[in-house]
Amino acid sequence: MREKFDLRGKGALVTGGNGGIGLAMARALAKAGAAVAVAGRDAAKNAAAARELDAVSLSFDLADPEACRAMVDEAAQRLGRLDILVNNAGTNIRKAPQDYSLAEWRTVLDTNLTAAFIASQAAYPHMKRAGSGKIVNIGSMMSLFGASFAAPYGASKGAVVQLTKSLAAAWAKDNIQVNAVLPGWIDTALTRRARKEVEGLHERVLARTPAGRWGNPEDLGGIAVFLASAASDFVTGTAIPVDGGYSSLA
Ligand code: NDP
Repeated sequence: MREKFDLRGKGALVTGGNGGIGLAMARALAKAGAAVAVAGRDAAKNAAAARELDAVSLSFDLADPEACRAMVDEAAQRLGRLDILVNNAGTNIRKAPQDYSLAEWRTVLDTNLTAAFIASQAAYPHMKRAGSGKIVNIGSMMSLFGASFAAPYGASKGAVVQLTKSLAAAWAKDNIQVNAVLPGWIDTALTRRARKEVEGLHERVLARTPAGRWGNPEDLGGIAVFLASAASDFVTGTAIPVDGGYSSLA
């Protein structure tokens, strides 16, 4: 069974792999044997992740579609192949729906949704040529639920799930599996900011999560390896919550 999870010989690109959930998933993929590339904007975080994981680091702003394409091609070239793409980079701007500018809406949609689409498009020829591939898109509890303070984020994360299903349906014939992971509330830079900006959030999450705690980025390592490996070859088009039970409560 262990060989089903073996990623030796595989090349993996994790967007936003220089911190938070992305770094934890990149770590898990590297531990399972994959050669890893991480992409982000922050040079210091990129360098630290590259050092720790012996990874290729790529500096791109994924809100720019051309940068997404260039990132994928550079990852494939520097890794020598591209078998696994984790579309994890994400951002949020929190305010009431009536207060967003169009530019703010676009920043969130471009980073969370359009980048995942463009990177998947760019990865497709590499995976098709290799005869197999794995794409893992990162959704959210806001793929399932609304939040009064995160309209563009919720719109982008809901759409990520529908994008996942469409890509899975289109590319199953090419032996490319596409799945989404829906993290619950995980302790990262993103949510540390949220806890400052949204009063009572910390306590509400604790009260609603059956596991009785916030998640750690490491809680996402196992699902990343599963969805990137042969163990999930008949799993495609799904959206799997990793949330300590948060989404199972009414
Ligand atoms: P972090 O803020 O810790 O990490 C976000 C990552 O995305 C960073 O590596 C950042 O790199 C990268 N990133 C953001 N914008 C861009 C951009 N324009 N171009 C390139 N890279 C970018 O957040 P998390 O680890 O918490 O979030 C990771 C993913 O998980 C996101 O998609 C988020 O929506 C999702 N998620 C998180 C949850 C949580 O509770 N934490 C819950 C549900 C989903 P850099 O700083 O170098 O730009």
